[in-house]
Amino acid sequence: MSGTEYPEGAIKCLDKGFIRLVDSMGGDDAIVQAARVSYGKGTKKVSQDRGLIRYLMRHRHTTPFEMVEFKFHCKMPIFVARQWVRHRTANINEYSLRYSEARDEFYIPGKDDIHFQSKLNKQGRAVEEVPDELKEKIIGYFRDVSEQSFRIYRELNEAGIARELARAILPVNIYTEWYWKNDLHNILHFLHLRMDTHAQYEIRVYARAMATFVKKIAPIAYEAFEDYVINGMRFSGPEQHLFTKRIPPRVVEDILEDIAYRIVATLHRNKTRTGDELYELYRKNGGKDSRTDFELKWASGEVEPGNVRELREFKEKLLQFKV
Ligand SMILES: Cc1cc2nc3c(=O)[nH]c(=O)nc-3n(C[C@H](O)[C@H](O)[C@H](O)COP(=O)(O)OP(=O)(O)OC[C@H]3O[C@@H](n4cnc5c(N)ncnc54)[C@H](O)[C@@H]3O)c2cc1C
Repeated sequence: MSGTEYPEGAIKCLDKGFIRLVDSMGGDDAIVQAARVSYGKGTKKVSQDRGLIRYLMRHRHTTPFEMVEFKFHCKMPIFVARQWVRHRTANINEYSLRYSEARDEFYIPGKDDIHFQSKLNKQGRAVEEVPDELKEKIIGYFRDVSEQSFRIYRELNEAGIARELARAILPVNIYTEWYWKNDLHNILHFLHLRMDTHAQYEIRVYARAMATFVKKIAPIAYEAFEDYVINGMRFSGPEQHLFTKRIPPRVVEDILEDIAYRIVATLHRNKTRTGDELYELYRKNGGKDSRTDFELKWASGEVEPGNVRELREFKEKLLQFKV
């Protein structure tokens, strides 16, 4: 089988594949610029832009993220492309096996990637080790089928058979290539689904590589995506009902207290206040500690600032758990 060439800047994926960023339009700035159109005059400082992007992500105001565009050049096995192509919002142009001859490049899994079928997850791999001997046999089968099918494919080509028919003899582990263009909103949707452990290992490799490019172009949006989508959690109605029944009101009160302190610390960071003003601000934000306790906690240096809007939204959510 032929040696693989990787274009400049490409991230290698699987044994012979890659993904590289060909072009991009906009970044975090383009998201803020678009959001300003809908929210009026808008923001000036980087910290305010960050807050705005995070707000948009939290509230799924998604269209500003569509203003950022990426074009990738990707090379992957056809069985990976079949999953990838289900993401319908992208523009794709693929290497044509009707027009050009197929190349002798097939995905052969590495030993570490060979697992038994999971009994728990019908679409997944189990963790138990496959014996080495069986792994070698499997790799051998992948090689044999790839080589044999390619030999027949060549023979059909040499006999003058139409390429569009001859290609049908090739297995789905053969590599294909495409240009894939999409916007940031839909790319994040793709990454959310395809970096997840429920997605097939082989497509996860590409999604993770794509994420490194996205992170470079739109770091603030990517950070918000990690915080609210990847590491965020949503609760169903029945789950929330159980929380309301089971979480002791004292625990909710403690968290609400923490929020009040953090709101004060954030406002104080933005505009310095005196001792009296701080305590007043704390009470105004729902804090219930006595002045002495407030001063002790404040002096401990444990109170961390955050984002006022986010903290207030968290408070709203928590209040729903209070009966
Ligand atoms: C772990 C996993 C397992 C899967 N298993 C299977 C499987 O067994 N069988 C199978 O067939 N597929 C399977 N899929 C594919 C899955 O059902 C989706 O087709 C794929 O993830 C693309 O998602 P999407 O439609 O949200 O994305 P996109 O096509 O990128 O669409 C993005 C969003 O645009 C909107 N949209 C796009 N097109 C339309 C439309 N025509 N009408 C309405 N809204 C639209 C939707 O809101 C959609 O969420 C699986 C996917 C994953 C991640």
